[in-house]
Amino acid sequence: MAQDISFQLDATDGKARAGVIRTTRGDIRTPAFMPVGTAATVKGMMPESVRATGADVLLGNTYHLMLRPTAERIDRLGGLHKFMNWNGPILTDSGGFQVMSLGALRKLDEDGVTFKSHIDGSKHRLTPERSMEIQRLLGSDIVMCFDECPSLPADRDRIASSMELSMRWAARSKAAFGDRPGHALFGIQQGGLEQDLRGRSAEALREIGFDGYAVGGLAVGEGQAAMFDCLDYAPDQLPEDRPRYLMGVGKPDDIVGAVARGIDMMDCVLPSRSGRTGQGWTRRGQVNLRNARHADDPRPLDETCDCPACQNYSRAYLHHVIRAKEMIGGMLLTWHNLHYYQDLMAGMRAAIAAGTFASWQTEFHARRAEGDIEPL
Ligand SMILES: [Zn+2]
Repeated sequence: MAQDISFQLDATDGKARAGVIRTTRGDIRTPAFMPVGTAATVKGMMPESVRATGADVLLGNTYHLMLRPTAERIDRLGGLHKFMNWNGPILTDSGGFQVMSLGALRKLDEDGVTFKSHIDGSKHRLTPERSMEIQRLLGSDIVMCFDECPSLPADRDRIASSMELSMRWAARSKAAFGDRPGHALFGIQQGGLEQDLRGRSAEALREIGFDGYAVGGLAVGEGQAAMFDCLDYAPDQLPEDRPRYLMGVGKPDDIVGAVARGIDMMDCVLPSRSGRTGQGWTRRGQVNLRNARHADDPRPLDETCDCPACQNYSRAYLHHVIRAKEMIGGMLLTWHNLHYYQDLMAGMRAAIAAGTFASWQTEFHARRAEGDIEPL
């Protein structure tokens, strides 16, 4: 890997792996869940609160930051870590996925993508070289290759040509990234749900050589069963001695299933986004705090959780502030959800280290099957 960044695999249990990515800004314990700080903030959370949930690393979005406040401005102000007051490692995406999601607002060619800003309609261009420059200006510790990601379902020819284009862009990303001690560059495997295309993509990435490898192009509407089918082989196609990152996943059971299949890193907006809409994630599954059954309930959301929302507030209070659209409602539920996700990761890391991941998974699914506690 790049100088000053290393990946140490400490334990395996079946295909599941536990280890640590060492960076100049601190260790990332794996399997790791990365909260998403889209616009230089994890919405509703102070950075020290995000850290207190147990997060080692944050994700930042190239697309959002290049439009507002711009990468050049963040660079002038000392880089993203200083700008947003997060001194731990930051991984940035390449902008590729979000630009692709713009649909009609974007135009793709061999060299890159031209698109219109969702904020003011202004015209912008991203290429592998520009994406590397933006991520350098942001000061990202882990940089992602610029890639193209077709939405599924798509026909095989479209997926194959898109994957080939992404591999040409991966080589250009590597060349533009250059030699940057202390910073890592990850390649992104594409190929949809086609095992042979995924294999060809992994082969091309290995040949270029990266510090870590992402499984891209999943969690785009294919459903959990299809995603798990793909994860039954996709991580195995990537180098064993490098971190494997599943982008944009997911719900707690998606995360557990991915770790069981050899994934080391994940990110998702779900815990923060669903917190803002009154959804709590617990060991017993999803709880909708908007529901009237909580209005008189003095019990905590989860009596075994030691987050501030569960330690100091009742379901009745959470229900009230969510329904009254008070800011603290989204703040408390985001805190709880991020805390639950990090607890989940810590539980998996301990079980993998102890060689008890299979029974841990049985217990995880049994608790969820019980459902939420009975109403009073
Ligand atoms: Zn809690």
